[in-house]
Amino acid sequence: MRVIAIDGPAGTGKSTVARLVADRLGFGYLDTGAMYRAVTVVVLRAGIAADDTDAVAERARSCDLQVGPYGVFVDAIEVTEEIRGPQVTAAVSAVAANAGVRAELVRRQREWIALRPGAVLEGRDIGTVVVPDARLKVFLTASAEARAARRAGEGTTGSDTASVAADLARRDELDSTRAASPLATAADAVTVDTTDLTIEQVVAEVVRLWQERDVPNGAEPDTAADRASADGTTEADRDPAIGSTRASARASGAGHKVDSELIDRAWNAGEPTRWARLLYTVVRSALVGLCYLWFRLEISGREHVPAEGAFILAPVHRSNLDTPIVAAVTRRPMRFMGKDSLWGVHRAFSWFISALGAFPVARGTVDRDALRRCQSVLEAGQPLVLYPEGTRQSGPQLHELFDGPAFLALRTGVPVVPVGIGGSERAQGKGSKFIRPTKVRVVIGPPILPPVTGQGRATSRRAVRELSAALGHDLQLLFGQAQAGLPAD
Ligand code: C5P
Repeated sequence: MRVIAIDGPAGTGKSTVARLVADRLGFGYLDTGAMYRAVTVVVLRAGIAADDTDAVAERARSCDLQVGPYGVFVDAIEVTEEIRGPQVTAAVSAVAANAGVRAELVRRQREWIALRPGAVLEGRDIGTVVVPDARLKVFLTASAEARAARRAGEGTTGSDTASVAADLARRDELDSTRAASPLATAADAVTVDTTDLTIEQVVAEVVRLWQERDVPNGAEPDTAADRASADGTTEADRDPAIGSTRASARASGAGHKVDSELIDRAWNAGEPTRWARLLYTVVRSALVGLCYLWFRLEISGREHVPAEGAFILAPVHRSNLDTPIVAAVTRRPMRFMGKDSLWGVHRAFSWFISALGAFPVARGTVDRDALRRCQSVLEAGQPLVLYPEGTRQSGPQLHELFDGPAFLALRTGVPVVPVGIGGSERAQGKGSKFIRPTKVRVVIGPPILPPVTGQGRATSRRAVRELSAALGHDLQLLFGQAQAGLPAD
């Protein structure tokens, strides 16, 4: 199984390492500890005694649990911060020792893995119980002092190193001695002592171990690490929420003050102002015209683009050229996201791209502002372009999709229009300055409609997953059709 299992006690850097490895390889990432913590919140809130094993297990089975890039939600309530609080930390090991809870969460974890082409999971029992046939198992350790210092440094509990150390020791003891899947090293796990290593060193080591093991028969290596070094960005730069680049935040000193009024001025009424529309039309015509000339652009399936109302245009992403190329699919002005550093270049440039309908997406983790703006753009009836793979990828296969487009479609009830683009990577892939005059083909698929539920805008974990899976399926087909017969290199 294309799974990396990362286990180990608290404070060894598991979460950070697992997330970065997943980003770098384009894999899904699951923090299983957050799942146990979320169930603990439910139990605490319901006032159920931790030793009432049946009632605790029953709550684990009945709750709707979403652990993902948007944060952690139980029964549609956000608990992202609460799960890190001292109360939860104190109670979680007892809840995690409940065999019924473990059976349920392991079941959900396996279900989550089954939907992904590659996955990184971190926890205590991933290599031993959840995925015993994981292709790579890593067990992270660190000295007790280093672990306590790291946790205290995170400042999540507001405690000093000594009390953090005591708490870690207590949890280690509980986690290692419980009857149900105790914390243990799998026989075939590689142990990495992180005491004297930086996060980057640990990440590099795990990626190296994966590359050693992941030698598919003749298939091209699927890690992005080598591509990453070519242009200075890495797949870790993907924003897990709606797909952006973390490089922008890094390069620009994390987050430009973006004048939100400037962004919305031309587009805030659901329709661009007359001037914004004119600007869009002129710039679009020029760029699209060049694309037709330079790439002998061929577009099929235009009839699938809704003539009115909001929709999410969801193209595969292999090149910076994809943005002007997809602008060709409809004359209707569409909105795009750009990395926030673009708004830091020059005020006139900020004005220009904002007037064109672009808006910024920032930071490494979850850019809630961008997510909110996506939602309001769609609610205002405007078409929006979102790349479901996040940042530019490489190769003929679709990469792991972010749930952002599916989540937004479900939230707002708008259709998702899948788009395959063939040839754009050959025209100008990552790291390439030159734009080759090579053929580009765009194939637009039928819109995927979010299911209507009795409860209106239901964004349950399952609904998002199913919609993302449907989108992934269609995108792969369209991508194949768009690439058919084009030169491969
Ligand atoms: O990793 P984190 O500290 O967030 O995990 C919280 C607790 O959840 C752990 O102390 C452990 O009791 C439990 N856990 C578990 N199995 C996992 C992940 C976490 O028992 N796979």
